[in-house]
Amino acid sequence: MKTALVTGGSRGIGRATALLLAQQGYQVAVNYHQREAAASEVVTLIHQRGGKAFSVQADIADEEQVVTMFRTLDRHGAVLHALVNNAGILFQQAGIEELSAERINRVFATNVTGAFLCCREAVKRMSLRHGGQGGAIVNVSSAAARSGAPHEYIDYAASKGAMDTLTKGLSLEVAAQGIRVNGVRPGFIYTDMHADGGEAGRVDRMAPTIPLQRGGEPEEIAQAILWLLSDAASYITGSIIDAAGGR
Ligand code: NAP
Repeated sequence: MKTALVTGGSRGIGRATALLLAQQGYQVAVNYHQREAAASEVVTLIHQRGGKAFSVQADIADEEQVVTMFRTLDRHGAVLHALVNNAGILFQQAGIEELSAERINRVFATNVTGAFLCCREAVKRMSLRHGGQGGAIVNVSSAAARSGAPHEYIDYAASKGAMDTLTKGLSLEVAAQGIRVNGVRPGFIYTDMHADGGEAGRVDRMAPTIPLQRGGEPEEIAQAILWLLSDAASYITGSIIDAAGGR
C-alpha cells in the first residue's frame, strides 16, 4: 500500500487532502502541530470509511522533530510514496514597518525550513540511489508568491516564493532518482488560516475580485494535489499549478 505524509493534515487544505488520498487508496500519515483532536478526527473519519491512516505530531520547524516524525513512519513499516508539504503559517496582517525579525524567522522556519527538512527526509527514503522506489512531492505554495501580499503579510508571501524555488531546484536535483516535485499555488480558500491573519472573512471580502467570483474550497486544492501525486502526472515535474480561480 502506498503511504502519503501530509504535513498539517489535521485542518483546512491538509485535511481535505488527507481524506482524498485515503479515499484513493493511500495509507495517510496525518501530521499536526498542536491540535491532536483535529488530527484524531481525520484519522477516525478515514478508518470509518475503510481507509488506513495514523496521526503523527511534529513541529516541522524543528529539525529533530521532523527526523523523529519520519522515523515514526518507518516504524509503521510505511514505504513513503508521497509527501505533501502543506503545513504553513502566517500572522496578523501588517505592513513592513511592523515586521520583527522574530516574526519573519518564525514564518520562514515553518514555511521554508520545515518544507526543506521534510523534502530531505523524504528524498532519503524515496530516492533510487538510496534503494528507494521513487515517489512524488507536492509543495503547497500560495498565490501570494505572485502577488506579494502587500499590506497583509509580505513575509508569508516571500516564504512561498522561496518554496517555489525549492520546487524548481529540487525537481531537477532528484528527477533522475525517480522523484517528481511539483507545487500548487492556492488562492483564497475557505480555511481557518485567514482568522490567524486577523480577518476571518477575508475570502468573502476578496470574492468579487476573483475571476471565478468566489473563494475556493479545500477539496478543490486537494484534487490538484492528488493529480500531481498520481501516475496521471507521470511526466510532470518542476511545475506549479495555480489554483486561484483565475487570479
Ligand atoms: P490552516 O487551516 O491554518 O491549517 C494549518 C495546518 O498546518 C494545521 O493542520 C496545523 O496543525 C498545521 N501546522 C501549522 N504549523 C505547523 C508546524 N509548525 N508543524 C506542523 N504542522 C503545522 O491552513 P490552510 O489554510 O489549510 O493552509 C494550508 C497550506 O495552504 C499552507 O501552506 C498555506 O500557506 C497554504 N495556502 C492557504 C491558502 C488559503 O487561502 N487558506 C491560500 C494559499 C496557500 P495544528 O492545527 O496542530 O496547529
